[in-house]
Amino acid sequence: MQSMHLPVSLFNTLTRGMEPVRPGEDGQVRIYNCGPTVYNFVHIGNLRTFLFQDLLRRTLVASGHPVRFCMNLTDVEDKIIRDSQKDLPESATNVERHGAMKALTERFTALFLEDLDALRILRPDVMPKATDHIPHMIALIQKLEAKGLAYAREGSVYCRIAGLPQYGCLAHLDREGMRAGTSVDSDEYERDTVNDFVLWKAAKAGEPTWESPWGPGRPGWHIECSAMGIEHLGERVEIHTGGVDLIFPHHENEIAQSEGALGHPWVASWVHGEFLMVEGEKMSKSLGNFFTLRDLHEKGVDPIAFRFAIQSNHYRKLYNFSFEGLKGAENALKRIRAFRRRMEGEGEAGGGAWKEALQPLPRIEEARHTFWKAMGDDLNTPEALAALFTLITDLNAQDDRIALSREERDAALAFLDETNAIFAAWPTEVGSADGEVEALLAARKAAKAAKDWAEADRIRDQIKALGIVIEDRKDGTTVWHRG
Ligand SMILES: [Zn+2]
Repeated sequence: MQSMHLPVSLFNTLTRGMEPVRPGEDGQVRIYNCGPTVYNFVHIGNLRTFLFQDLLRRTLVASGHPVRFCMNLTDVEDKIIRDSQKDLPESATNVERHGAMKALTERFTALFLEDLDALRILRPDVMPKATDHIPHMIALIQKLEAKGLAYAREGSVYCRIAGLPQYGCLAHLDREGMRAGTSVDSDEYERDTVNDFVLWKAAKAGEPTWESPWGPGRPGWHIECSAMGIEHLGERVEIHTGGVDLIFPHHENEIAQSEGALGHPWVASWVHGEFLMVEGEKMSKSLGNFFTLRDLHEKGVDPIAFRFAIQSNHYRKLYNFSFEGLKGAENALKRIRAFRRRMEGEGEAGGGAWKEALQPLPRIEEARHTFWKAMGDDLNTPEALAALFTLITDLNAQDDRIALSREERDAALAFLDETNAIFAAWPTEVGSADGEVEALLAARKAAKAAKDWAEADRIRDQIKALGIVIEDRKDGTTVWHRG
């Protein structure tokens, strides 16, 4: 398959319009992604965001764009401190407090990476931790202070939003409603209480602290991403992503800090993934519909079916997660995998000459064109996958009548590999589906032993549909090979 260089357009929250991705001067596309706050298991709503980021990254790479992908780990923050310090005595030293925080965040970082691997989400090129960047955060705050864009008060430092005419540009806030000059200490607040937000938090009893020019304290959440993003991706970043819940205040504040310090625009394109609902309701612990990947695993859900269910829906549409919907994803995957096995085989012509016969090679090329055009159009996966499924229907019908040639089968397989580079959900290696065949053979053997001939025949047909030829030997064993 020839290498591609395809344009990709994305919806930019900043301009509220579709814009082509423009690589930097060195040809790279730098992407900064707000990573997890590592104090607990991430839930499937968080995972939806990471799956969208993986989709974006893989699409850009497949489209011929070199990507530098940075995702941070937030390992110091209010909730982390609350959970990691609760069992420590009041007399605990700062070293002990840092140790307890590190133990908690390292544990959940490892579990988070396990989730990424289970979902075949590619590891970031760089994964900075906030606690490794305290000097960078202090330097950034000092820059803002020197420009009159930050002020210290009682050991804390706040960002002066009155000095930032662009403040509100991302969340499209009405500047009239802003209460510049009053300050807020918490990291999370609503858009109707726009205030000077905290950059550095003065030490409080029971919290781990770092030394700073303003006395002991710790960073606010927002400054963490600005400092890590500038350090690892530079002063010009092509794309910044996150969930829609981060638009305000987190991303708005990142713009304020970074652009305030740099004196020029920082991120060209802000791309946000929508929420996930569960069975029509907002996910919450009290409703009992709060799931982690481990919860799904216990219910027998294949993580790759979850991956496919999420990615086959458009990232900017609200996604209603349901177990019924997961079954649909599983069936869709089965169909693609069965088609793949069929193309691996040699096929045998059924009906002979057929007036509706189509030209397989141009038909594959047409599907390929439609697929990549849809992916380049704001990652329109529903349309891209529709092109793939229509092709499968057409070629299956063709193959039933007039067996496809080896060249045509190989072209179909190459297209499947190309699409799998994005979805990572159908096997690309011959023989990787052996487990499924073996399981079906075992089920058929059990049915025969129970003298359930109808069931045994049904399973035999199911195996045949996978393009597998089975041969029952006189000694009672069954051997199989691909047709
Ligand atoms: Zn962030």
